[in-house]
Amino acid sequence: MSRRFDVVVIGAGPAGYVGAIRAAQHGLSVACIDEWQNRDGKYAFGGTCLNAGCIPSKALLESSELFHKAQHDFAKHGIQTGDVAMDVAAMQKRRAGIVRQLTGGIAGLFKANKVEGLVGHGKLLAGKKVEFTPVDGEPEILDAQHVVLASGSAPIELGMAPFDGDQIIDSWDALELPSVPGRLGIVGAGVIGLELGSVWARLGAEVTILEAMEDFLFMADRDVAKVARQEFKRQGLDIKLGAKVTKAKGGKSGVSVAYEDAGGQQSLECDKLIVAVGRRPVTDDLFAEDAGIQLDERGFIVVDDECRTGVSGVYAVGDCVRGPMLAHKGSEEGVMAADLIAGEIAEVNYDVIPSVLYTNPEIAWAGKTEEQVKSEGRAYKTGSFPFMASGRAKAMEQTAGMVKIISSSEDDEILGVHIVGPMAGELIAEAVLAMEFSASTEDLQRTIHAHPSLAEAVHEAALAVDKRALNFPNK
Ligand SMILES: Cc1cc2nc3c(=O)[nH]c(=O)nc-3n(C[C@H](O)[C@H](O)[C@H](O)COP(=O)(O)OP(=O)(O)OC[C@H]3O[C@@H](n4cnc5c(N)ncnc54)[C@H](O)[C@@H]3O)c2cc1C
Repeated sequence: MSRRFDVVVIGAGPAGYVGAIRAAQHGLSVACIDEWQNRDGKYAFGGTCLNAGCIPSKALLESSELFHKAQHDFAKHGIQTGDVAMDVAAMQKRRAGIVRQLTGGIAGLFKANKVEGLVGHGKLLAGKKVEFTPVDGEPEILDAQHVVLASGSAPIELGMAPFDGDQIIDSWDALELPSVPGRLGIVGAGVIGLELGSVWARLGAEVTILEAMEDFLFMADRDVAKVARQEFKRQGLDIKLGAKVTKAKGGKSGVSVAYEDAGGQQSLECDKLIVAVGRRPVTDDLFAEDAGIQLDERGFIVVDDECRTGVSGVYAVGDCVRGPMLAHKGSEEGVMAADLIAGEIAEVNYDVIPSVLYTNPEIAWAGKTEEQVKSEGRAYKTGSFPFMASGRAKAMEQTAGMVKIISSSEDDEILGVHIVGPMAGELIAEAVLAMEFSASTEDLQRTIHAHPSLAEAVHEAALAVDKRALNFPNK
């Protein structure tokens, strides 16, 4: 007889594992299937985020930032270090240890919440049956009342620059490099390209980033993108915009990359080339043809605002469906699916999903850019405050950047908050909470912020919206 579950989740990345835990918290019987295998041959829960994405990248960003600071910034504080050297093997060991702890933690959370974690391949069949093929056994059919597809995404491969796992590599390989490449080429100046470029540049690589688009960080507010571009340039990241790669080939002396830009045909020689041009949804062998699941023209599973597929009782969440490919967006969708399955009312506020780049300076935003508000024809006002005028930022020696707030002229509602500067990824949480509660800039103005703190810059930017900034001249 086949095993029965109230909910079977396929995929244990941040969308799937969080959804599975939430469903179990509702008292439902839950199984969560995943087949992720790490380079050491071990299977692990946590998906891209924990194994090859958010967490390992932040571990390396932290190590490389400390190294960079020790070399360039400590002396300003009067700290004398002498020669500072980087032990890349030790850095990578720390990264692997963090990944191991966190992915092991999910197995523990599954146990604590009575989620049955199943290691192997899951496939949705017709009639809400799931075929589970364990990594070390025979396939088994599970009966599910509800199914959540959370199969995630994988790096996009370019036909003219195919991955070879050694010289032309994806983001996962780039996180596990055993040594610092002398010359590093990166295709794509998106979040992943910039974060990986920052890591290896801080460790001494000569980094060139080729970006096909003319606009730098097209999705960010223009003021923020401008500051970020200047800062990255100052750090030695050579970002070439409007540069379309036409061919890349590995050889004995490295990778030869051909690209076109406004000046015509160009070339780049590098030791490693990271291709970071985006990610595609993973749906390979995820569902049977007669299971009733539809894909859109880009390969994403078609869902409505509540992540319901066209098949009753079957949901899809995370990177395999429309919307930003972000771990926290996927997790919220997982929670929503579980709550809906349990009969509760639930929704995701897609208008207020924070985006963060963990570069230096960090970049974070929530809500609309000024360009978006303008194109909607809305009357708006803006206020900004530079970290240069923040006592805390000065104490930290991190004064590049600013906070910018955009509000409606009609009712003062906060429409967008954009930050480039120290700890932007943490500071944005206040803005997200404010926007979630439909706060006005006056609400932020009247909220007491600790002194001296970076959060005061958010407070001052809110004051600046009404030309009431206290610690910087109002424009
Ligand atoms: C280098 C890098 C850095 C990133 N940094 C950030 C960041 O700082 N912040 C952020 O929010 N996002 C970041 N992301 C994006 C983030 O990792 C993804 O948005 C997130 O992991 C998506 O979660 P998910 O659960 O939808 O999918 P995934 O994390 O991709 O997990 C899907 C899981 O499903 C499993 N699976 C798929 N099909 C099957 C099947 N048929 N049977 C069994 N198992 C299956 C896979 O093995 C995988 O474990 C980063 C990504 C990369 C690559």
